Amino acid sequence: MDLLEYQGKQLFARHGVPAPEGRPASTVEEAVAAADEIGYPCVVKAQVQIGGRGKAGGIKLAKDRSEAEENARAILGMDIRGLTVHEVWIEAASEIASEYYASVVFDRSAKAPLMMLSTKGGMDIEEVAASDPDAIARLHIDPLIGFQDFHGRRLAFEARVDADVVRPVGSMLARLYGLFVEEDATLVEVNPLIVTPEREVRALDAKVTLDDNALFRHPENAGLRDVSGEDEQERMAKERGLTYVKLDGDIGILGNGAGLVMSTLDVVAEAGGAPANFLDAGGGSKAEAITSAVEVILSDPKVKAVLFNIFGGITRCDEVARGLIEAFAKIDPKVPFVVRLDGTNDVEGRRLLAEARLPNVYTESTMDGAAEKVVELARAA
Ligand code: GDP
Ligand code: MN
Repeated sequence: MDLLEYQGKQLFARHGVPAPEGRPASTVEEAVAAADEIGYPCVVKAQVQIGGRGKAGGIKLAKDRSEAEENARAILGMDIRGLTVHEVWIEAASEIASEYYASVVFDRSAKAPLMMLSTKGGMDIEEVAASDPDAIARLHIDPLIGFQDFHGRRLAFEARVDADVVRPVGSMLARLYGLFVEEDATLVEVNPLIVTPEREVRALDAKVTLDDNALFRHPENAGLRDVSGEDEQERMAKERGLTYVKLDGDIGILGNGAGLVMSTLDVVAEAGGAPANFLDAGGGSKAEAITSAVEVILSDPKVKAVLFNIFGGITRCDEVARGLIEAFAKIDPKVPFVVRLDGTNDVEGRRLLAEARLPNVYTESTMDGAAEKVVELARAA
């Protein structure tokens, strides 16, 4: 789960990471009231889950009340690379002497958190990584030892941080690491981490990703989900307990088991098609779950044809067939379906489908055959 900047900063406050004071607002009136409380000059910042807000005009300095109002009016409702701004964060303006970059990410291959620090902050870090990789100091932290002062000194030294701020930068890194571990985050990124002319160190931006699978340990974080930033189909699937990822193509995919669905995507691509989604209905799916999954797939208007690829183990092919028949009774789909049923109760499943005489449903016995058929149908549509 990706957090908005201000939600990340709420976690920063909880963990003692220094950041400018601020208030969220979702209307112009609220924004002006917040700006009055914070005082001037302040910064009005668009809250969307995407970087580069500054360049897109989503971050504006206000030196008085009328500018705060003007900026809030301009930014609320603004479209930033496809995302609508529903909220702004009003923050005390900072003076900047230097912009650094700091992050903690989980490095799966090393099975340990990786900390990064650079004095080339404020810009696109991927660009720095490509053009000047030595400008980013990196250090893995042994999770059993945790973050120690010497880790901070070593990163600061390697990144060539100004000598007078090595201590406060190290202390900020320690707090970011604490947040990362205690909140079960998979990413904590501060870009820029600023040094003010008074040589104070502060987090000016916050990008935090929490591990969804650990949310049950943090009921206080469950409310941080930004529903407006989520894709409509993905939200619908999540509510229905389905594993669904939206993709760019026009062929809806349903399978049982993540591995089978992944290989189905490959086979469809190989046959020249473009999958519209990944949908794993899971093992042992009952008819109801299948009907519910069909509704999610078809709620994507781009879908021109659907492929069911079921290998019955715990999942029974007759249940899948019943689910599809129910879905047809309930929503009367207009797009063609190709169904490949193999394994437990496949004969029964195919018999049910044949008897139901569903319009536009084609059965295939092999995965390759099914992929070719669905690509052909999507093209013809
Ligand atoms: P992003 O563009 O989405 O990454 O948003 P950031 O919060 O990182 O802001 C982008 C840039 O705006 C920063 O790198 C700063 O240069 C500038 N900026 C943001 N807040 C302030 C502020 O309070 N004072 C000044 N002088 N610049 C700011
Ligand atoms: Mn930033």
